[in-house]
Amino acid sequence: MESVSEYFGSMVFDDRVMKATLPEKVYSSLRKTIDEGAQLDIGVANAVADAMKDWAISKGATHFTHWFQPLTGITAEKHDSFITPAPDGGVLMEFSGKELIKGEPDASSFPSGGLRATFEARGYTAWDPTSYAFIKGKTLCIPTAFCSYGGHALDKKTPLLRSMEALNKQALRILRLFGNTTAKCVRSSVGPEQEYFLITKEMYEKRPDLRFTGRTLFGAKPPKGQEMDDHYFGVIKPRVAAYMEELNSELWKLGILAKTEHNEVAPAQHELAPIYTTTNIACDHNQLTMEIMQKVAAKHGLVCLLHEKPFAGVNGSGKHNNWSIATDAGQNLLSPGETPYENAQFLLFLCAVIKAVDDYQDLLRIAVATAGNDHRLGANEAPPAVVSIFLGDELNGVLEAIENGTPYHGAEKTQMTLGVDVLPRFSRDTTDRNRTSPFAFTGNKFEFRMLGSSNSIACANIMLNSAVAESLKSYADRLEGAADFKTALNELIKKTIKDHKRIIFNGNGYDDSWIKEAEARGLQNFRTTADCMPHLLDKKNVDMLTSHKVYSEAELKSRCEIMLENYCKTIVIEANTMIDMAKTQIAPAVEAYTADVAKSATAKKALDSNLACTYETGLVRKLSSLTDRIALKTEALESSLLSLHNAEDIISESAMIRDKLLPAMSELRVVCDEAETLTAKSYWPFPTYADLLFGVK
Ligand code: ADP
Ligand code: MG
Repeated sequence: MESVSEYFGSMVFDDRVMKATLPEKVYSSLRKTIDEGAQLDIGVANAVADAMKDWAISKGATHFTHWFQPLTGITAEKHDSFITPAPDGGVLMEFSGKELIKGEPDASSFPSGGLRATFEARGYTAWDPTSYAFIKGKTLCIPTAFCSYGGHALDKKTPLLRSMEALNKQALRILRLFGNTTAKCVRSSVGPEQEYFLITKEMYEKRPDLRFTGRTLFGAKPPKGQEMDDHYFGVIKPRVAAYMEELNSELWKLGILAKTEHNEVAPAQHELAPIYTTTNIACDHNQLTMEIMQKVAAKHGLVCLLHEKPFAGVNGSGKHNNWSIATDAGQNLLSPGETPYENAQFLLFLCAVIKAVDDYQDLLRIAVATAGNDHRLGANEAPPAVVSIFLGDELNGVLEAIENGTPYHGAEKTQMTLGVDVLPRFSRDTTDRNRTSPFAFTGNKFEFRMLGSSNSIACANIMLNSAVAESLKSYADRLEGAADFKTALNELIKKTIKDHKRIIFNGNGYDDSWIKEAEARGLQNFRTTADCMPHLLDKKNVDMLTSHKVYSEAELKSRCEIMLENYCKTIVIEANTMIDMAKTQIAPAVEAYTADVAKSATAKKALDSNLACTYETGLVRKLSSLTDRIALKTEALESSLLSLHNAEDIISESAMIRDKLLPAMSELRVVCDEAETLTAKSYWPFPTYADLLFGVK
């Protein structure tokens, strides 16, 4: 068996392979495109395509595909083989620069939220040379952006790349003001921590709710849940360990830096974290990771659940987006530096993030809004739906001292003068303790904790990059025209702290009293997707995102529409699945059990008419009343579904779903779950929570 360092990245057309296989001139021209966004000419593309094809064939590939991330939330690919007929009746393996650069998949079956109707029917994919091509199975996958012919983005990568460019442009302006003349670019980096559940395939197959919706729609509480806290960081079971081992090696072959793995809080819940990398690549890698997690699980007779809330009553799964910004020279702009000047620069970038998060709370909430994630946010297990920032006591103390012009009573008890004094070192320990904050500073990066486990990380980072670019732009506009840089800088930092300190909260985010306080502070609290999504089109949001050329107004409208459609469709499918399960499995099971209990009472009485049979009679009464209620609640859910046809548009439909359909679903669930606790296990039609959560040995 090869060692990890030998096979790491073996399926990636990475820099090592490029250097080894491309003519020197081609290589340096391609690097210029990757590093500086320089135009790529067709000659270079042809040479790259040729080398890529030879490399891929040597690894056993027969096909290639443009791999992209449409708005469905998963990745898409259409495979073409390399073969072209040769005059002698055989075939040649060919792949041209044109095929590398551009593809034309049929766009009509991907969601476009009206963009296609208004503009063009066709779409095209365009190579993203900043993310390496890789081999999956027998296919060379080329990461691409997906656009309509009118140039409108139909995917998640395009706006992500645009947001990185916006951030780059504004951050460089700030660095120049601080005398940095050498940085060529500034990029954001992300390390996404991915949570998931593993259950056995056998049990999964028996649950229509899991198969159709990814979560359990019914299920009584098991006798044991997560109350003992004995799963978190616990010993990994052999079957799970074997899964993780194969998962790691598959990810490593694809150059994905899978680093840590451990059990999570809920039974059957686990986490995988990679080492952070450039946001665009981190996003591609996270999509691939989710796909491979599911594939490897299947090989082990397991199913990997990526849904945000597969089980009621135990923790759901999230994704922590660890985000920082750094120069091409490796300077982390969110890390306090060694000199007073670096510290002032750090504080300015920190302020830019604080201002961004406060000004665009709604966009961050929107970026993580899905039907699945609505079950987590605010449910005392994940951060609340209210966005706030945790800075830690030390940094908070520094900011307060700056705002009030008072001495900072930290370790050294110094009066802080920006650009003159050195900031105290913040130890990771004091900044990392709070786990309840949606947006926590953790020493040299921010951890955005509201993402759902199945979310693409693209949306959150698009909003984050853009909002911070906007703060930096306003700072650069002010500072470039300032007569005295230092004075202007001091004023700017003070003003930001004063104007935006309401977003800073260092207490317990799971506490109900915080929600009240947050409201008093004027922070937004959008509990559901239906509540927040329409605000994507608020003027301030459209103005900001269009001014940085991250989205066009038409693209924003289409995205709002698609996300609300997703929300509605997801919940309607859940409702239909519930109705089906209640009618065809649950009610009949309860009925069969009731009949048998009644039969047993009759039989007993036939033997001895003096027997009271109070147990049977009582149970039959209870069960019989429950089946009646199941029927009633099923009907109510059906009529609630039917009433959706009266909705005038997608916004009113989503509101009806939030106000009528979801409560009707909960009511049906309550009676069915009660029936489960009274029905003999051998009659119950599917595996229980205990079976599912403790089934993997
Ligand atoms: P934990 O949050 O469990 O304490 P770490 O903070 O060490 O663990 O790392 C969590 C994630 O944050 C990892 O994916 C790691 O690579 C990533 N990370 C670490 N430093 C940075 C950084 N400067 N920018 C972005 N992500 C980072
Ligand atoms: Mg973490």
